[in-house]
Amino acid sequence: MIVMKFGGTSVGSAENIRAVADIIEKKDGRKIIVVSAMAGVTDSLHDIAHRIIDLPNSVIKKEVNQFIKGIRGKHINTTRELIHDKRVLEESVSMIDDLSEKLETVLLGVGYLEDLSPKSMDYILSFGERLSIIIISSVLESRNLKAKALTGHEAGIVTDSNFGRAHPLHSILSRNIRESINPLIEDDVIPVVAGFIAANSEGTITTLGRGGSDYTASLLGRYLKASEVQIWTDVDGILTADPGIVPEARLIPTLSYIEAVDLAYFGAKVIHSKMIEPAMDVNIPVRIKNTFNPGGEGTLIVSKQEKMDHVIKAVTAHGDVGIVNLKGVGMIETPNISGKLFSLLGGRNINILMISGSSESNLSFVIKKDSIEDAVDAISTGFGDNSIRSLEVVEDVCIITVVGVGMQGTKGLAARVFQSVADVDVNIIMIAQGSSEVNISFMVKGGDREKVVKTLHKRFIEDVA
Ligand code: ADP
Ligand code: ASP
Ligand code: MG
Repeated sequence: MIVMKFGGTSVGSAENIRAVADIIEKKDGRKIIVVSAMAGVTDSLHDIAHRIIDLPNSVIKKEVNQFIKGIRGKHINTTRELIHDKRVLEESVSMIDDLSEKLETVLLGVGYLEDLSPKSMDYILSFGERLSIIIISSVLESRNLKAKALTGHEAGIVTDSNFGRAHPLHSILSRNIRESINPLIEDDVIPVVAGFIAANSEGTITTLGRGGSDYTASLLGRYLKASEVQIWTDVDGILTADPGIVPEARLIPTLSYIEAVDLAYFGAKVIHSKMIEPAMDVNIPVRIKNTFNPGGEGTLIVSKQEKMDHVIKAVTAHGDVGIVNLKGVGMIETPNISGKLFSLLGGRNINILMISGSSESNLSFVIKKDSIEDAVDAISTGFGDNSIRSLEVVEDVCIITVVGVGMQGTKGLAARVFQSVADVDVNIIMIAQGSSEVNISFMVKGGDREKVVKTLHKRFIEDVA
């Protein structure tokens, strides 16, 4: 049994969905399909939700109607283009209409109440995948395959109530998922599961974080003991850099789990940072493939660590972060200040990406931009004493990371990396090397991002092999 996940671009138009259905149809054996929302839909749901809470009551209805008309039209037109079987078409249209009505009701409610809680936001965002599963499962049915559309919750994915970035409840997932999926598989039905969305134990919809459909796929793979998890996307696999920054970026044929985790964590958007762990736990290979070049080998992610000609396998940049600087002589007398900081931020589910203390009276750490406000609040209220004199936030920064197992024990590599950055006249603000020794990360100004990625890619990848 394999899990095949298709991302937003892959299901972004009727033509692309045809390519997806061809791939599914050609693949023999048992399979579970996971899909994202059609490209752009989650972003548009996010935007409308934020827009309507600021609008005067007199225009909310008009704005919401217009939005619903657009999103309903997009899904119905795509369905009509793809499905010619009258019964299947009518059923799909009626399900799309039903969801459009529900979405309209919640958007009006949010708009008039001017109350957009993380819980409502997750509910609104869930519509993207709830709509796309209808189309994909109907297309498979119209090709005479047995298929069933399932939300994440219906597939057995239960999480805590950390809306926006919910954590799966692993202790109950195994049984839940098997009970939901196995009867379908045994009946030769192809489950078409909505990625990204799940529900808490009360059945309230949650989401796994943006880009989280990959995570859904690996959770299903792990608990169903799949032989492979395939991530079908719009590039040939994991490349040596973001092709949007470095057009010369090349395909990386194999990566170890550890390298893939570091790449995803530090900005390679092609896979979600949490998706590797479930696969790694039970040693399931993860393959990244291109929907639009299905014959390509893609990237295979396994436990084995292989070296390449270039010690640095890939360069990534993560711009969605900020630095928080804490200063205060009082910190010198406060034992375990970083311990306290970790627990304050941990209590709010904030992840520290990098930390450094250049002196006892100075501590800097890097977190995601969307956590900054929360972090500042946690610190200001948590350190009630006078140990912290000033708290400064720097937002126009980005983390650059180089990754490769060959870096372990390669003497002088860090020095060469930093020299290359200095050669293009860029200042390094902060440095960290992960204990796994498969990455070196450092911070530069946001505006230096492209220059640094291009320089490192040229020196350590293009010029080497
Ligand atoms: P999907 O919608 O299929 O989940 P994403 O947009 O999330 O796809 O991820 C694929 C995109 O990730 C690519 O189109 C590419 O622009 C971007 N990307 C960034 N870094 C890398 C990298 N190192 N290798 C491949 N793609 C990358
Ligand atoms: N549709 C969601 C997003 O855009 C999840 C995903 O595509 O993986 O973030
Ligand atoms: Mg993605």
